[in-house]
Amino acid sequence: MAIASGNGVETVRIAHELVTQEKLRPVSAAVRGVAVVEADPNDMSVGYGGLPDEDGKVSLDSACMDGPTHNAGSVGAIQDIMHPAQVAERVMDATDHVNLVGDGARRFAIEQGFRPENLLTERAEEIWKRWIAGRNDDDRLWPLNDTNPADPVLQGEPRPWGTIHCSVLAPNGDLGCCTTTSGLAFKIPGRIGDSPLIGCGLYCDNEVGSAGATGRGEAAILSGGSWLIVEKMREGMHPREACLAALRRVVEQTERAARWQPALWKDGRPSFGLTFYAVRKDGEFGSATMSGNRRFAVATAEGGARLESCAALYS
Ligand code: ASP
Repeated sequence: MAIASGNGVETVRIAHELVTQEKLRPVSAAVRGVAVVEADPNDMSVGYGGLPDEDGKVSLDSACMDGPTHNAGSVGAIQDIMHPAQVAERVMDATDHVNLVGDGARRFAIEQGFRPENLLTERAEEIWKRWIAGRNDDDRLWPLNDTNPADPVLQGEPRPWGTIHCSVLAPNGDLGCCTTTSGLAFKIPGRIGDSPLIGCGLYCDNEVGSAGATGRGEAAILSGGSWLIVEKMREGMHPREACLAALRRVVEQTERAARWQPALWKDGRPSFGLTFYAVRKDGEFGSATMSGNRRFAVATAEGGARLESCAALYS
């Protein structure tokens, strides 16, 4: 089976097909599955068409992890490469390193045969220009409160986030996963989020299960969210419960942090969005989000590719 964030219905369909029919290893099925979203200019949170950093540069984060070999690869803040997840897979397979960042990651990608191209679409550039015109002095400190009423995308909303995570379970019980993103819109150049960090935006252990995150990367980093979920599943928790347990941990930590960063806390709960996804080795799966109605994508042999509702910590 394959599980992904809500923007990944096509991703899970592809990944499921690749892992069942073409017998691809799960990590490669996940990487191939997310490619469709990385190349989609209309998804402004991943790959081509993603919203840029402060300087107007699209800068991507991606990682993948292979259960059977317990190996991983990642690229952080890579520019000009449309499929960073595939570069992360090359880091995993062709080097002894786990993380490559910035220009080194870009150079490695080109050396591996990836073609550099402009990833900034006209629409993303237009939104970035409007953000520049309306940016406020607190912007780097309080990104959660960064709203720009003049902008149709940002209007009334916190600064947009988005990412795709995909975890895959093969028929033989092997696991693999991948997370890929353009990260926080208008971030400080060089910022990496949770997506390229093993244990934060993704983690898998072939004996237990696989997990990943989308949403406020800083919270997934500070909680070690994906690692924590896999450990909770190791203790016997259902994937959905494990996701909720990780969110509860984030809430406790955020309450402490909110003493010096009050923007993190609103109405007695974290003011940001965070969603976790998990699959256990026995095929049980689940997802939970901090609050509100969110959906995740899943593909199974019986049910095909579809959207299901995430459990919510706060309704
Ligand atoms: N987690 C991503 C990041 O912090 C963004 C997102 O999922 O919306 O870069």
